[in-house]
This record gives sequence, structure tokens and C-alpha cells, in this order.
Amino acid sequence: MKIKNIEHIGIAINNLEESIPLFEKILGVKCYAIEEVKDQKVKTAFFKIGETKIELLESTDPDGPISKFIEKRGQGVHHIAFKVENLHEALKEMENNNIQLIDKEPRKGAESLNIAFLHPKSTNGVLIELCEE
Ligand code: ZN
Repeated sequence: MKIKNIEHIGIAINNLEESIPLFEKILGVKCYAIEEVKDQKVKTAFFKIGETKIELLESTDPDGPISKFIEKRGQGVHHIAFKVENLHEALKEMENNNIQLIDKEPRKGAESLNIAFLHPKSTNGVLIELCEE
């Protein structure tokens, strides 16, 4: 699969209100977008560093995936997102290489990207998101 760049790194946090000013201090740039992704039960905040974004993820639902992640592992890095040229083909290729997919078909993510996740069970515990513009 042809990866163009690291599109973003997703970080699970408890509270955007507290974490946005913290990451503005750390990264030296202002948060440029806050967006709710109902589908994933998250509110996201974005920062841009060169070609790569930092995506903070706050859960909007105690049963949502981010709440469960924080319960188990605490706040921290949640996923890495790679931008690919052709998401459909990339998913086919991963499947053919016996990489388990969470999303068999692309779906809409934040920043109006098409996204799909690979299962961390088959990627040494790293949650990988593939996305395409
Ligand atoms: Zn993401």
C-alpha cells in the first residue's frame, strides 16, 4: 500500500477544555478545529504541525470506544493515521495480507476524510487508521 504521510496521531484525553490549552502550550500552535464525530462518539480537536495533525479525542459517551480505551489504558496515544492514495485498494491489500480490518469499507471521519481502521490484534497492538482525502 502506498502511504503518503502520517496524516495525524490520535490522543485519547478526558477533557478537551483542559487538554486544548495544554497542547497549545506544548505544540506552540493554536487548535484550529473542533468537531464532533457522532458515529465514533467523540469530540475532536485538531492542531497542525507541518503535514501532520494532532487529534485530541474526548468521548461523548461512557460506552464509547474512547471511554473504554481510557478505562483500560489511561489517557495517551490512541491511534496513528496514515494517508493513503487509494483507501479501497489499501483495505483489499491489507485483507489479502491477513491483516484484520475493523472497517471493511471506508466511512466518513473527522475533517471529511474517508477512513478505516485496522484491528490492533493483527498490528502488534497499534491501532492504525488509514485515510484518504
Ligand atoms: Zn483519527
